[in-house]
Amino acid sequence: MPHAIRFHRTGGPEVLQWESVDVPPPGAGEARVRHHAVGLNYIDTYHRGGLYPVPLPSGLGQEGAGVVEALGEGVTGVKVGDRVAYATSPLGAYAEVRNIDASLLVPLPAAISFEQGAAMMMQGLTAQYLLRRTYRVQPGDTVLIHAAAGGVGTIVCQWAKALGATVIGTVSSEHKAAIAHAHGCDHTIIYTRENFSARVREITGGKGVPVVYDSIGKDTFMDSLACLRPLGLMVSFGNASGAVPPVDIGLLARMGSLFLTRPTLFSYAATREDLLGMAAELFDVVTSGKVKIEIGQRYALRDAAQAHMDLEARSTTGSSVLLP
Ligand code: NDP
Repeated sequence: MPHAIRFHRTGGPEVLQWESVDVPPPGAGEARVRHHAVGLNYIDTYHRGGLYPVPLPSGLGQEGAGVVEALGEGVTGVKVGDRVAYATSPLGAYAEVRNIDASLLVPLPAAISFEQGAAMMMQGLTAQYLLRRTYRVQPGDTVLIHAAAGGVGTIVCQWAKALGATVIGTVSSEHKAAIAHAHGCDHTIIYTRENFSARVREITGGKGVPVVYDSIGKDTFMDSLACLRPLGLMVSFGNASGAVPPVDIGLLARMGSLFLTRPTLFSYAATREDLLGMAAELFDVVTSGKVKIEIGQRYALRDAAQAHMDLEARSTTGSSVLLP
C-alpha cells in the first residue's frame, strides 16, 4: 500500500503520522499522480496547527509534482505519462501517490525538474499574482517584502527586481540578509533588531513605499502600514507570526487613505484559464533565468514533522521539498 502523512488531531509537528493509505482508481474527472516531489508551505503549518480548521482526520499539503499514472472518466488536458505539477489542491499532497481533480494539474515544461516544480508552484504563483495583479509593480517603484530570504520572499525579490523595482526586504539575521541580497534585494533590514518602518522612511527619503507585501501578520502589521506613502497598498497575505487582530479601519484614513487587501492564491487561480496563464508567466521567468528557484532544504516525505519544525523555527531559507 502507498504511504501518506496524515493527522488525526491538530497540534505541533508531532501530530503528523506516516500511514499506509488506500488509493482507489481515479473517479470521473480525476487523475492519479505519482509524486516525485512535494512542496512544503507555511500554510501547511496553519492546517496542522488549527489556525485554518479542516475536518479530521486529514491528509496535508496542497502542492506536488509527478507523473500521471491513471485517469478517471472524462479527463481531457492531461494523459497518462505526463509530467505535471499543482499548487491549489484539497489537502493530501504529502503522499506517495494521490487522486486529484485533473483540472488543477499544470503540464510541467521539460526544462523544469520535479523538485523545482514542487518547490515553486505555490510560492511562485503567489509571487505572480502579488507582483502582477494585486499591485502591478512598475519600473522605478520601491517595494517592501517581509521574510525576503524565504520561499515566497526569494521569488518575489528576484521577480520584482526583474520588473525594474528597487526591493527592500526584511529578514531576521545576517545570514538571511546575504541570501536576500543574492536574490535581488537592494536593501535588507534585520527587523528583529531594527525598526523597519523608520529604515524604510530613511531609504525612501521620507516618502514611504507604494506597496508592502506582508506575510508575517500579527508582529508586523502596524509597522507595515507606517511604511506606506499616502494611497499606498497594504497586502497582508500571511500569518507566520500569528493572525492579525481586528483592525479599526479609521486607521487607514488617518495614515493617508491607505488601501488594505487580504488576498489568497485560491481566488486568483480559481479558474483554469487564470491558473494556466499564471503558470505560463512563472515558467517563463524561471526558464529565462530571471528567477532562480532556491531549494534550501530537502527532506524525506516521512520526515515532514522535522520540516515543519525547521520552517516554524525560522531556520529554513528559500523553498523546501519533501521527497517520497
Ligand atoms: P517562508 O519560507 O517565508 O517561511 C516563513 C518565514 O517567515 C520565516 O523563515 C521567517 O523569516 C518569517 N517569520 C517571521 N516571523 C515568524 C515567526 N514568528 N515564526 C515563523 N516564521 C516567522 O514560508 P513560505 O514561503 O511558505 O510562506 C511565506 C508566507 O506567505 C507565509 O505567511 C504564507 O502563509 C504566505 N503565503 C500566502 C499565500 C496567499 O496566497 N495568501 C500563498 C503562499 C504563501 P525571517 O526569519 O527572515 O523572519
